[in-house]
Amino acid sequence: MTIVDSPAIAAGGPTLTQERRLVTAIPGPRSQELMTRKAAAVAAGVGHTIPVSVVAAGGGVIVDADGNSLIDLGSGIAVTGVGNANPRVVEAVTAQLNAFTHTCFTVAPYDSYVAVAEKLNALTPGDHAKRSALFNSGAEAVENAVKIARNFTKKQAVVAFDHAYHGRTNLTMGLTAKNIPYKSGFGPFAPEVYRAPLSYPFRDGGLSGAEAAARAITQIEKQVGAENLAAIIIEPIQGEGGFIVPAQGFLPALVEWCRANDVVFIADEVQTGFGRTGAWFASEHEGIVPDVVVTAKGIAGGLPLSAVTGRAEIMDSAMAGGLGGTYGGNPLACAAALASIESYEADGLIERAKRIGAVLLGRLNALRTADARIGDVRGRGAMVAMELVDPETGAPDAALTAKVAAHAHANGVLVLTCGTYGNVIRFLPPLTISDELLVEGLGVVAEGLRTA
Ligand SMILES: *Cc1c(COP(=O)(O)O)cnc(C)c1O
Repeated sequence: MTIVDSPAIAAGGPTLTQERRLVTAIPGPRSQELMTRKAAAVAAGVGHTIPVSVVAAGGGVIVDADGNSLIDLGSGIAVTGVGNANPRVVEAVTAQLNAFTHTCFTVAPYDSYVAVAEKLNALTPGDHAKRSALFNSGAEAVENAVKIARNFTKKQAVVAFDHAYHGRTNLTMGLTAKNIPYKSGFGPFAPEVYRAPLSYPFRDGGLSGAEAAARAITQIEKQVGAENLAAIIIEPIQGEGGFIVPAQGFLPALVEWCRANDVVFIADEVQTGFGRTGAWFASEHEGIVPDVVVTAKGIAGGLPLSAVTGRAEIMDSAMAGGLGGTYGGNPLACAAALASIESYEADGLIERAKRIGAVLLGRLNALRTADARIGDVRGRGAMVAMELVDPETGAPDAALTAKVAAHAHANGVLVLTCGTYGNVIRFLPPLTISDELLVEGLGVVAEGLRTA
């Protein structure tokens, strides 16, 4: 089976030629025109990574209004795992669009919402009884997870970790660690949010997972107290914070401590979920069973949907009418989620994530052995990053990172950066990208490193 014939590739935008093609500079004249209108019409706080005017996307490419075809190594921040305009999603959403578009599930329910909840309950880790509730964005789901945990435990404090990212609403800004650009000037933030140290193997002097967990737990016990603590929330692999994979044993030790202390363990799998890391959920890599799992991004092929899934007794503790929202679990988004889940399953996309991970780690580790500015290469499945540093001191090199990303963008490869220190280049390709495009995109990034 050749790569282009694989069902995984056919699942995403088969009508677009899968190639990197530059016919103008980036941005071309039409994209420039949109950027001018954007600056005049859209709030300056709403940024963009690459100055293009998108007209189509699918498989592993994004096409702009000038006819440039860019290699997509970002998936709209880990959203289009099943590929843009995935045919299964298009078909399901079109059918739903023609049937009905909205009733508000909490006013008049419909099948697809319940079917998504059933799927989430079956797919998330653990075989205990579960319930789900659907929302619109990752941040909204995180807010609801915390709300539910507080109501269930009758406690108030919440612990988040260094380098955490949980969103941009008031509570989730408070949970997020990084000040600029996410928090500065936007306070005051919600009370009863505390921060604990993470396991960050590249930068914490080689603490084992158990040692890093003991450090975090001691701080939590001394500064908060389990008797006040409703929940711990953590990304199993941190996303915006720098694709930090905690040392083995860190997450299981936290889960165990939570169980022993009546604290709800919330896994924020908004970025890591839905096959991204080569498993349905990143929690599986460490065999942990979170009490509550928060999902969004990869769930619905680009339609806005998020979810909170958790132990039945926790989820059912909120009174009827206590959870919901006008649009949460919108029928179009639910149809898209069911079609996306079908695509992950039927098109072999989780296997594909593993294969993408092998290609990414193989290529990036090879680069690293020849280039001391690549301090670390880490990640799982199609969620891999490299951390760029000053080879002499190990200090983060954000300037080099920006140069490499700019080179990639100018040469038709969309990569994203991240990290508390802005020195991480992250790779989050759609799982429908071909090996050829992935390797070509990595080649452009490598060229950016050579010429920087
Ligand atoms: C993106 C993200 C969020 C916030 O999701 P939105 O849909 O942008 O509100 C929360 N947690 C994690 C881990 C994320 O990556």
